Amino acid sequence: LLACRQIPKVELHAHLNGSVRPQTIREILEERSAAGEALPVTELQLKDITACGDRSLADCFRLFDLIHAITTTHAALSRIAAEVVRDFAEDRVVYLELRTTPKARPEYGMTKESYIKAVLDGIEFALSQQPGQQPCDTTSKDLSSPSRPGRGDGAPKGKVDGREAAGCTLGVMAPRMDGCCGVALSPADGPAAVTSDDSADGITDGVGIIVKLLLSIDRREDAAAALETVQLAARYKCRGVVGVDLSGNPYVGSWASWSEALAVARAAGLGVTLHAGEVYTPFETAAMLAFRPDRLGHCCRLDRELAEALRSSAIPLELCLTSNVLTQSVPSYPEHHFAELYVAGHPVVLCTDDSGVFGTTLSREYAIAATAFGLSMSALMELSRKSVEYTFANEQEKQRLRSIMDRASATT
Ligand code: 5GP
Repeated sequence: LLACRQIPKVELHAHLNGSVRPQTIREILEERSAAGEALPVTELQLKDITACGDRSLADCFRLFDLIHAITTTHAALSRIAAEVVRDFAEDRVVYLELRTTPKARPEYGMTKESYIKAVLDGIEFALSQQPGQQPCDTTSKDLSSPSRPGRGDGAPKGKVDGREAAGCTLGVMAPRMDGCCGVALSPADGPAAVTSDDSADGITDGVGIIVKLLLSIDRREDAAAALETVQLAARYKCRGVVGVDLSGNPYVGSWASWSEALAVARAAGLGVTLHAGEVYTPFETAAMLAFRPDRLGHCCRLDRELAEALRSSAIPLELCLTSNVLTQSVPSYPEHHFAELYVAGHPVVLCTDDSGVFGTTLSREYAIAATAFGLSMSALMELSRKSVEYTFANEQEKQRLRSIMDRASATT
C-alpha cells in the first residue's frame, strides 16, 4: 500500500457524496442538532452510513438517499468537495475527475445551479490551500460583487477542515478572466484547468492536483431534467466542468429518457461517461455501446456478445474493484473482469467509486490489483500512465500529466 501511495495516480470515477468522510457526516449532523434541527437519520441509519461494509447495490442507493438528506446545504457541499479534493491529493492523485448530481432543494434555497457553484467553490478553496498557492485572500475581494457573476450564493461559508471557507476563487491562481461565469481560465487551449498549481513544476513535485468536475444525471431524472444538467455543464465549462455522467440506481429509468440530452452534451464538447452493465440489462447496455460514449463505468454483467462488443469498441472502462466486490456485482477480486480486460489490452482505469461509503482509497485499489492480479509496481505505474489518455483534460494538461508519469516511471 505504501508503495502504491508513491505512484502519481489518476482518478476518473469518484462520486462526491459517496466520497464524503464518515466523520464529516457525523459533524454535519452534530451542527444541525446543535442548531435545533430535527435529524434526518436515526442513530441506526447513521451507523449504517459510516460502517463501510458489504451491502447490496440496492442497499447502497438507500444509503445515498440518507447521505443526501444530510448534505443539504451549500456550506455542506462546499466543505465535502474541499475535503474530497484534499483526501485525493494526499493519496498522490495528480488528476481528479470528481462527479456529482446537481440537486434542486427549494426548501434549502438550492437550485441545481447553486449546487454546482457550491461544489466548485469547495474545490477551488481546497486548491487554494494546496502547497505553493497564495493564501485565500478573503479581505480584499468582494466575492459576491456583480463583476464576478455567479460567485455569491454558492460560496463556501461553512467549515472546511476546521477552517472557514470563504469563497476563494481561481482568480487568485490563474491569469485571465473569462466572461462566462466570471472566473479565471488557464491560458492555454480548452476549458479551464482547475488546478492547484499553474506552473508545471508544482505538480511534478507531487504537491499538486488538477481537478475537473463531471455533472451526473440521476437515472430517476426525466428528459427535461437531464437536459437541464447538460446545459448547466456546458455553462460551467469555464470553471472546469468537463463532462457528464449517467448514474444512479440501475433498476430504474430507461435509456430513451437521457440519450438525447447525452447527445447534446457530446455536441457541446463535453465528455460523456455512462454507468453500464451493473446489473444484467442487455438491451440497455447494447444501446449504450452503440452510443459510443467516451468512457464507460463498471460493465460487470455482460453476456458473451456484449463483452465482445465492448472489447471491439475499445471504449475505456472505469473499474472500481472494492465497490464491485462489496456490492456483490462481482463475486471476488480474482474473478473481477479487470483481469481479462487487462490481459486483452483493453483500456482500463482503476477508480474508487465511493471512497467514503466503501472505505477505500485509490492507492488501496492499486494495492488490491497488485495482490489479486499479480501486477508489479512498474505494471501499476504503466496503468496509471495510460489513464492520462482517457481523461477529459485538455492537451496541455495531458502533456503535463505525461511528464509527471514519465518522471515517476523512471524511478519505479
Ligand atoms: P452524488 O452524485 O450525490 O455526489 O453521489 C452519490 C450518487 O452517485 C448516488 O446517489 C448515485 O446516483 C451515484 N452513484 C454512486 N455510486 C454509484 C454506483 O456504484 N453505481 C451507480 N449506478 N451510481 C452510483
